[in-house]
Amino acid sequence: MESRESVGNREQQGDPPLPTGHCPLPTRLVVQKYGGTSLGDAERVRRAARRVAETVEGGTRVVVVVSAMGQTTDALIALAHQVADEPDERELDHLVSTGEQVSASLLAMALLDLGRPAVSLTAGQAGIRTDRLFTRARITDIRADRIRRELERGVVAIVTGFQGVTEDEDVTTLGRGGSDTTAVALAAALGAERCEIYTDVEGIYTADPRLVPTACKLDRISYAEMLELAQLGARVMHPRAVELGEVYGVPILVRSSFSEASGTLIDRGAADERTDSVEVRKHVRGVVHDIDVAKIRIMGVPDRPGLAYAIFSPLAEAGISVDTIVQNASLDGKTDLSFTVARADRPRAVNLVEQLVPDIGAAGLDYADSLAKVSVVGTGMQSAPGYAARMFGALAAADINIDMITTSDIRITCLIDAARVEPALRSLHAAFELDQP
Ligand code: ADP
Ligand code: ASP
Ligand code: MG
Repeated sequence: MESRESVGNREQQGDPPLPTGHCPLPTRLVVQKYGGTSLGDAERVRRAARRVAETVEGGTRVVVVVSAMGQTTDALIALAHQVADEPDERELDHLVSTGEQVSASLLAMALLDLGRPAVSLTAGQAGIRTDRLFTRARITDIRADRIRRELERGVVAIVTGFQGVTEDEDVTTLGRGGSDTTAVALAAALGAERCEIYTDVEGIYTADPRLVPTACKLDRISYAEMLELAQLGARVMHPRAVELGEVYGVPILVRSSFSEASGTLIDRGAADERTDSVEVRKHVRGVVHDIDVAKIRIMGVPDRPGLAYAIFSPLAEAGISVDTIVQNASLDGKTDLSFTVARADRPRAVNLVEQLVPDIGAAGLDYADSLAKVSVVGTGMQSAPGYAARMFGALAAADINIDMITTSDIRITCLIDAARVEPALRSLHAAFELDQP
């Protein structure tokens, strides 16, 4: 868990102040995070620089967090896989962290060119400490003295998102999409009034607006609902960023880099507010999909105590997280056990399970990489009957077969063929009356 130990030393004296031009003495502080598309080329970098400069000129201090430009991270990962079948994770993190360094220095140059003092900082220079879990590290501490010094001198600090350093100064990354988490963690550590996430859509929608053209933009959403959407695959926010926002009470505003539209506010307020009008309240807030799903099925598993433990504990030890698990009713003392993992983990998971099959007396295994999860999400579904039936009905009407089903208090999830995601989302969106009027 991130700590705020280093927060509160605002008065610490750093270097003498730089001239701050004609700006009024700023007191407000925001963190602005720019995503990959928002920094996709030189013109977009300049556009982001102009927005930062305007915010500073309006009297607000800004700390910026950047992602790698465009598809840079994907390209670097692909390159790693060309030189090694299973790239070493420490080296992989060292490699992909360079993407954000490129953006940070370019954005700093663009700001300096506008006459605005700015400095790019790596995560190490910015004091972002993590554990040693390469490719999926957690922030353990932020020692933000350097950023505070820059702020006091009127300099915009531009921090590389998605990464940190261990106590031994090895570079780590926070998992794909992790720049959002850097931004919210910094906002918490610095006591910023909010964290602004600049992206390529106008906010959080009732479904991915690229797949569901009738999706509606939400003005406000609670941390809890946003967390569920993020965990179920809405990549617009990194789940850990939403968790940190909730824990530290950081309001998060998601908005477009390319317009002045007001965006979506993620905070505590929304859920309480909506309980005032229970009658008119829609229980379902959104539909969400995730195509990063692989399924492994172990066939003919003897139905006796301890076998699920024998299968899942080696996976846990290998750091593979297992999502949906379904065990069929036992027939002749044998059962089929299916579970899902992220596609990147599937080869390792299959290797591990293959070794177990003879030991546990199972008949064999197979797997599929081409599945997707579609979920409907919203608080209050558990107390209202008929949601599951409506979901299954909508999928049936679109002629979509359901492979597995799981539910929680605030969601229902079905596993389907990945090729059918788009019609599934559209059908669910209409069935739950989320389409724009
Ligand atoms: P960035 O590079 O700015 O971090 P991402 O690609 O990580 O941007 O996230 C933005 C994308 O998230 C959008 O382009 C959109 O396709 C996708 N997305 C998925 N679900 C949603 C949703 N419910 N609301 C908004 N965007 C969504
Ligand atoms: N550049 C990283 C990624 O592509 C981090 C981010 O975009 O948030 O996953
Ligand atoms: Mg992102």
